Amino acid sequence: MKELLLGKTTNEISAQLDKLNEPAYKGKQISKWIYQRYVRDFEKMTDISKDLRKSLTDNFEISNSSVATKIESEDGTTKYLVKLKDGNTVECVNIFQPDHHTACLSTQVGCNVKCPFCATGLSGFKRNLTPDEILDQYLLMQGQSEERISQVVFMGMGEPFLNYDATLKSVHLLNKEVGIGMRHITISTSGIIRNIEKLMNEKLQLNLAVSLHSADDELRDRLVPINKNNPLSELFYACRKYADVTKRRITFEYVMLKDINDRREDLEKLITRLKGIHCHINLIPHNPIYSAEKFEATPMNKIKEFQRVLSDAGYPTTLRVSRGSSTDAACGQLSVIQGG
Ligand code: SAH
Ligand code: SF4
Repeated sequence: MKELLLGKTTNEISAQLDKLNEPAYKGKQISKWIYQRYVRDFEKMTDISKDLRKSLTDNFEISNSSVATKIESEDGTTKYLVKLKDGNTVECVNIFQPDHHTACLSTQVGCNVKCPFCATGLSGFKRNLTPDEILDQYLLMQGQSEERISQVVFMGMGEPFLNYDATLKSVHLLNKEVGIGMRHITISTSGIIRNIEKLMNEKLQLNLAVSLHSADDELRDRLVPINKNNPLSELFYACRKYADVTKRRITFEYVMLKDINDRREDLEKLITRLKGIHCHINLIPHNPIYSAEKFEATPMNKIKEFQRVLSDAGYPTTLRVSRGSSTDAACGQLSVIQGG
C-alpha cells in the first residue's frame, strides 16, 4: 500500500523523502504544494523534477478522500459530502460570511452522544475520523474556493472530545502547516469534562465552545445525554478553571427550543449558574430536522428577549445567524447519508 502524505508534518514528509534518498528541502516543497496550494496530484508539482514526480506517484499518495457532491446554498454557503477511503461519508461546510469564510469540519462519522434535537445524533455512530481525514475536509474545500477560508470551527458531525487526539493533531496541522491562526480555530464540545481539562493544560490560544442548552441537570440529561456522566456542577467548575487558567473567554452555545429551554425559569437558572465565569453566550435558533420527537424553534422575538435579559445581566450574548439552511447544511442538520 502506498504511504499517505496528507496528515504528516513537513518534517515527517521530509523523513519519507529520505527513504528515496532525496534531500529534506524537497519535503518542504511537497508540503507547500499539499498544504498551501491544495494540490492533490504529484504531476502538478511543477518545481519538482519529472523523475521524482514519477517516483513519488509510485511510492506515495497525497489523499484518499474525495468530494462526492457539493451543494451551494442561496446565501453562498456550500455543503460538501466527502467520501472516505472505506466508503463512509462525512459532511463539511464552507460558510460564507460577509467579511470571511469559515470551514465547519466533522470529527466523526455520526455521533454517539445522541442529542435528540440533532440530525447527526439521530443518525448513529460509525467511527472516528483520522487526523488526515479531518484536515482533508479543509483542504478539499479550500482547493475549490476562490476566497481564503480563514476560520475553522469543529461544529460538523461528531463530538470532537470523543476523538480528542485526532482532533488536536488536525488543529496543529491546520495551524502550523496550513497557517490558520489558533485564535481563528474553535472547538465545540457537548461538555466532555476530562478533555476540557486536558485542553486547558495544552495552553492553546484557540476558542472553546461548550454546548450547554440548559443549566438544569434534569433537562440537560435529556437534551445532551453525556450530562449524566458530566454533570453541570463539575462542568461549570471545569469551565471556570479553564477560563481562569487560559485567560480565554468560553462560549456557551444554547439552542433555543420552544417551551423546553426558553422559559423564564431556564433564563434565571442560566444567569445564576454562570456567575463568575468569563464567558460569552451564543443563542442558536433551532434548525428543523426529521425526527420522531418534535422540537420547535423558539420564535425570534422571544429569542431576542432572552438575549436582551442575558445581556442586561452582564453576559455578552450573540444570536447565531443560520447559514445554509436551504440545503440542510446548517447546525445540527448534518447526518450520515450513506456508509459502508
Ligand atoms: N458535537 C459538538 C459539535 C457539533 S454540533 C457539540 O455538540 O458541541 C455544533 C452545534 O450545533 C452544537 O452547539 C449543537 O448543539 C448545535 N445543534 C445541533 N443540532 C442543532 C439543530 N437542529 N439546530 C441548531 N443547532 C443545532
Ligand atoms: Fe453529537 Fe453535537 Fe449532535 Fe449532540 S449536538 S448529537 S454532541 S453532534
